[in-house]
Amino acid sequence: MNDYPAVSMIIAGERVTGGGRRTHAVINPANGEVIAQLPLAEPPDLDRALDAAARGFARWRKSTAPERAAVLEGAARLLLERQEAIARAAVLEQGKTLAEARMEVLMVVGLFRFYAGECQRIYGRTLVRPEGQRATVTHAPVGPVAAFAPWNFPIGNPGRKLGAPIAAGCSVILKAAEETPASALAVLQALLDAGLPGDVAQAVFGVPDEVSRHLLGSPLIRKVSFTGSTVVGKHLMRLATDNVLRTTMELGGHGPVLVFADADLDRALDTLVPHKLRNAGQVCVSPTRFLIEESVFDRFASGFAERAAALRVGDGLDPESRMGPMANARRPEAMERLVGEARTHGARVLTGGERIGNRGYFFAPTVLAEVPVTAAIMNEEPFGPVAILNPMAGEAAMVEEANRLPYGLAAYAWTEDARRQRRLAAEVEAGMLGLNTTMIAGADAPFGGVKWSGHGAEDGPEGLHACLVTKTVHEG
Ligand code: NAD
Repeated sequence: MNDYPAVSMIIAGERVTGGGRRTHAVINPANGEVIAQLPLAEPPDLDRALDAAARGFARWRKSTAPERAAVLEGAARLLLERQEAIARAAVLEQGKTLAEARMEVLMVVGLFRFYAGECQRIYGRTLVRPEGQRATVTHAPVGPVAAFAPWNFPIGNPGRKLGAPIAAGCSVILKAAEETPASALAVLQALLDAGLPGDVAQAVFGVPDEVSRHLLGSPLIRKVSFTGSTVVGKHLMRLATDNVLRTTMELGGHGPVLVFADADLDRALDTLVPHKLRNAGQVCVSPTRFLIEESVFDRFASGFAERAAALRVGDGLDPESRMGPMANARRPEAMERLVGEARTHGARVLTGGERIGNRGYFFAPTVLAEVPVTAAIMNEEPFGPVAILNPMAGEAAMVEEANRLPYGLAAYAWTEDARRQRRLAAEVEAGMLGLNTTMIAGADAPFGGVKWSGHGAEDGPEGLHACLVTKTVHEG
């Protein structure tokens, strides 16, 4: 069916499929057609994966940094060679445009290369002690990791979940989203083909709550890494308490964008509109609440709506498409609910606001204006192609609104005033702040949030250290 690859689990280096297991139907969101049946793990599958992860850790923790670097470098090369096939599979199972999927492959290539270097710089330190005594601080891999990756970045999320533990010397059991298995499997396969032992990194799929309870309940797992909604993150943190697991939580956001009258508005609009609609808005750092100084509100709102309405929406495989369908049936349903509810609160719909066609999960780029804070969409992450534009009376009110919600992932501000930029950098509660830019991530930069958006960054040296524990040896 098209060129979608066969999907399976990969346990202890072996492809696992069939055997009377339950299955999950993988759907192409551009047309609603079933493109594969994915086998789901039963408890014995998870036990096998756990045993393998324990063996894998015993072996990989002793690997040298150059050995780990060689695997990551090799996998990066293979991902580049396979870029087109992986990107096409991601479009078929997730819906985003081919150009975006190709970029996602490059993101993982960049991350693996960064960690290939960074894993060779896991330095400890020697403390000052009287002559004849010594104390040394060293870093060791935390242990087997259970990692859960969602469907919105089907290549990038698994890349993050696998790259850091492998670089640190951990083993990892990845449960990627059942909706987007092929991309995750392609990332893992590149690592295995580059020489990673099969018990070091594995992929299982299943009923999410069954898998997380089973893995987090095992004394063999030492860390849980999750990307997804805050509600599921809190649930996993509760499960993690029994075995006192290390946690990395990359959770929801509700990105505020502070637009000041002194900003370069055309540049802001040309940058922000495609950033908002990237991946049909299904991005945790998506800009969502646009807080705009009153004097430039009308100009910004009409420029935004014009650009959003002109964006070509279609099948992600069509080179003309600039935005694909939403990833699953739940998303357009959520958009209809949130937009409808905002309307009843008095919001104006400047463009969009409804589904496109009756095949697949397409939703029009949507711009809402003057949305009261009582509307659900002002408080709940829309995770879709909907921008909220509200006029605001100056900096203090804008910062207060930006910080009103319990989330603190990405925030953006557009202003040419350097003093104001420094004030915002200090006052806006967010893990990442883009000043006159939407480029807020990179292999070398920590990616993560504060407050209900989570803790424990991914990427950068911080992402590697999130997979390491500290040991201090005192010698008398
Ligand atoms: P959801 O909240 O049920 O699932 C989110 C992700 O968590 C999925 O990948 C799912 O497989 C996983 N998950 C769910 N329950 C789990 C469990 N008990 N153990 C382990 N993993 C579990 O619902 P959804 O419809 O997929 O997404 C809804 C919302 O989640 C979105 O609106 C968005 O707010 C958020 N989300 C955030 C991200 C992100 O990048 N931070 C990614 C995907 C979804």
